[in-house]
Amino acid sequence: MTIILSTLNARYAHASLGLRYLMANMGPLQQQTRIQEFVIGAKTTEIVEKLLAGQPRVIGFGVYIWNVEETTRVVAMLKRVAPQVAIVLGGPEVSHESAEQQIVQLADYLVTGWGDVTFPKLCGDILFGPKPLMKLHAGVQPPMAEIAMPYSLYSDHDIAHRTLYVEASRGCPFKCEFCLSALDKTAWPFALDTFLSELEALHARGARLFKFVDRTFNLNIKTSLKIMQFFLDKLEANPDDPVYAHFELVPDHLPDALKEGIAKFPPGALQFEIGIQSFNPEVQALVSRRQDNAKAAENIRWLCEHSHAHLHVDLIAGLPGEDVASFARGFNQLVALKPHEIQFGILKRLRGTPIIRHTEGYGLVFDPYPPYTILATKDIDFGTMLRLVRFARYWDLVANSGRFVNTIETMLGEAPFENFMAFSDWIYSKTDATHRIALDRLAALVTQWLQVRGMGKDAAQALVGSDYAGERPKQVAAAPQRQARHLAA
Ligand code: SF4
Repeated sequence: MTIILSTLNARYAHASLGLRYLMANMGPLQQQTRIQEFVIGAKTTEIVEKLLAGQPRVIGFGVYIWNVEETTRVVAMLKRVAPQVAIVLGGPEVSHESAEQQIVQLADYLVTGWGDVTFPKLCGDILFGPKPLMKLHAGVQPPMAEIAMPYSLYSDHDIAHRTLYVEASRGCPFKCEFCLSALDKTAWPFALDTFLSELEALHARGARLFKFVDRTFNLNIKTSLKIMQFFLDKLEANPDDPVYAHFELVPDHLPDALKEGIAKFPPGALQFEIGIQSFNPEVQALVSRRQDNAKAAENIRWLCEHSHAHLHVDLIAGLPGEDVASFARGFNQLVALKPHEIQFGILKRLRGTPIIRHTEGYGLVFDPYPPYTILATKDIDFGTMLRLVRFARYWDLVANSGRFVNTIETMLGEAPFENFMAFSDWIYSKTDATHRIALDRLAALVTQWLQVRGMGKDAAQALVGSDYAGERPKQVAAAPQRQARHLAA
């Protein structure tokens, strides 16, 4: 095979949409191109051996924050054992501040930004000349109608076993400074009818779980409604063979027409990922995040009370100007709205994002190694930041996991952040670990913690025991397990 498109996915279940876009747009080179995906954690030697078994002349790697370190090792080995193979890099992790990166220094070529047109052209030049003189090739953004859709490249195996990523649009019109999409300036939609016919084809082939990577699904309400109607039609036609769709929403834009559509979905068919990030208006202003907090809270409450959607809401700790007290207020405010999951993220300095303009003024200290997590700010010292990191991990294990849906309410009480922080500090002192805590041991620790807080042994055991009773209801069959546990609660 002449050209190999490769990447290291974070999990086997994640099928790379980026590689399939490139493949779909290879034009006459498509016949000589193959996709070869790996999963992080695989041995470098084995990846290199498998790649070279196809005797490629060009290997293109999709480089992301989660795979840059391992991909660097793969590229370094390839350049030693097969220097004749041209290595081309692309992806968000190498599209900005790239000159200083070791992987870029090792590779032959780099395509920054959109690769749909530029990557195939570069491959043609490498293979047939004239040999490209420049290492860096800025990706050309073609009209959306000229980008070939990648969805037919999901294999039957992908459809049966992996998450299918789809996108109705690229880009985001907002400018939150911690986010790479802040550089987009706008959003570009794909032709809706073409996109819907691709969804139809995927559904006809058996796809039931669709994850939309659109940054703001509810930007254009007419489009959102048509896409939702596609899923409602499927649910109505086949209630015993349900579909499940995941969308990212901006929280303060939920007109009545959209609410009406959302309210029609049965349990287990819809998940929304909603970015709040911070409820602190001063922090929002500092990072250029435009958000009507009152409207956002009202909409989350409405979704909880009037829809069956599974809600996953994001908060970020470590933003400039945010101290622990103000983060705690936002966290408690969000807990009171009762979303199913709160994703407690820690700020990362993604390459190219404008957040670095606050580095000096707000004492932002980031880990120099991926994923470039914040280590301290002028308002949160290193030790406290680590406590927050552990809080986030235990929150995932105990609250977001859906394993302790009854117990968590008692644990949080009237001061959720403060109470869970006390639990987090305690469980860390007991285990010295945030990973590899088996569920049985975690349940025993939670039971012990309830007693530390004054609950009788029998009551604590009964409460924790009650969390293992529920059966997964039939109507959430298409939903992933964790969401199903929340919806069954
Ligand atoms: S955080 Fe969300 S709304 Fe803000 S720029 Fe990024 S994608 Fe857009």
